[in-house]
Amino acid sequence: MRAEIIAIGSELLLGQIVNTNAKFLSQHLAEMGIPVYYHTVVGDNADRLKQAIEIAESRSSLIIFTGGLGPTKDDLTKDTIAKHIGVELELHEQAMNMIEKYFQKANRTMTENNRKQAMVLKNATILSNDYGMAPGMLYKNETHYYMLLPGPPKELEPMFMQYGRDALLNELDEQQVIKSKVLRFFGIGEAQLETEIEDIIDEQSNPTVAPLASNGEVKLRLTAKHMSEQEADKLIQALEEKIKKRIGQYLYGYNDSSLMGEVVRLLKSHNKTISIAESLTGGSFSAELTSFPGISENFFGGIVCYSNEAKKDLLHVQQNTLDSSGAISSECAAEMAVNIREKLKTDIGISFTGVAGPDPSEGKDVGTVWIGLSFKGREPYTFPLQLAGTRQSIRMRTTKYGCYYILKHFLA
Ligand code: ATP
Ligand code: MG
Repeated sequence: MRAEIIAIGSELLLGQIVNTNAKFLSQHLAEMGIPVYYHTVVGDNADRLKQAIEIAESRSSLIIFTGGLGPTKDDLTKDTIAKHIGVELELHEQAMNMIEKYFQKANRTMTENNRKQAMVLKNATILSNDYGMAPGMLYKNETHYYMLLPGPPKELEPMFMQYGRDALLNELDEQQVIKSKVLRFFGIGEAQLETEIEDIIDEQSNPTVAPLASNGEVKLRLTAKHMSEQEADKLIQALEEKIKKRIGQYLYGYNDSSLMGEVVRLLKSHNKTISIAESLTGGSFSAELTSFPGISENFFGGIVCYSNEAKKDLLHVQQNTLDSSGAISSECAAEMAVNIREKLKTDIGISFTGVAGPDPSEGKDVGTVWIGLSFKGREPYTFPLQLAGTRQSIRMRTTKYGCYYILKHFLA
């Protein structure tokens, strides 16, 4: 099965929106072992869409469409495909009921064009839309698979993950159960990780191992097939153990977890409190932490001490430290972490100081970072980093390293 993604929408061609659906789908298809050979973008125009379908059919066996499943005139995906492949559209009762209920509940009158959203290709496998009205579908004929997905990412992404992905995997192999698990790593580069387990990646066919790197993290998706679900789980478990022996120290979580999510879990399960002193990161660590509901029990507060004055006046970093070592130093990071923890009387204090760029500061190169970490009753730790990249990515990766060091040293 080789895939092509056709994104439909004039907004994409006008540069008004970015084709994130293609990115999302490509990423997941790669993990599933389905190669994507082409991305096509076409406007809301039936003739040009038909042309795009013909080209795609000549070079790909799976064609995934996104967009144009809605009720308005410019939503012509279904009609164009149906006509092109010679299949009728029929009313999908369940979808129709859902749409009717939605309008009753919202106390609005349904217009005739809304019925259009409940029309599906005859004999297609229906993919439920849990976050919108138009159902998706997977249609198969002798030569091709056609998957139709809605445009809005908040509808497309859960539809693909919950229904579309499995529907495709089942087509790849009807006899077997397919199970997968994502291992999430941090603190190790993609190249190094692949080198450490190169032989495992090369010799493995069931489960397969698919590496994927993004935003300074590396994920490995293990996918196993077996007639029995239990056996598939066992295959994954055995491979996970083997991988952990090599690079287990960098493994921080599974599936949809995140570094900050794991920090929150740890704080909650051990009933610990934290405070934060941020220079380089300007409050972004605190902002990300507070995106988790219920964190007020564990996060007491923080100080954004961007200037040396703020470091001195609000956090009581010593003038002597700033004079002799500078603000971007192990000494300053340690004082910041200890002082914020003592000031707010928490179990943990963490601090961030560094040069985000674009220009050097205090004679230190862009990307020089110090993270300070203070646990009650322990000497403070400080961690130097030398990060490459833009101002934004240096700041973003610094917060991830902050999480990583908390996870690593929490139980020391
Ligand atoms: P609706 O029922 O909302 O009309 P639809 O399936 O008809 O959904 P479109 O009308 O093509 O989809 O697009 C709806 C919205 O979805 C767009 O305004 C845009 O915000 C988003 N969208 C569409 N295509 C993409 C894409 N390829 N990548 C990211 N977002 C997209
Ligand atoms: Mg639309």
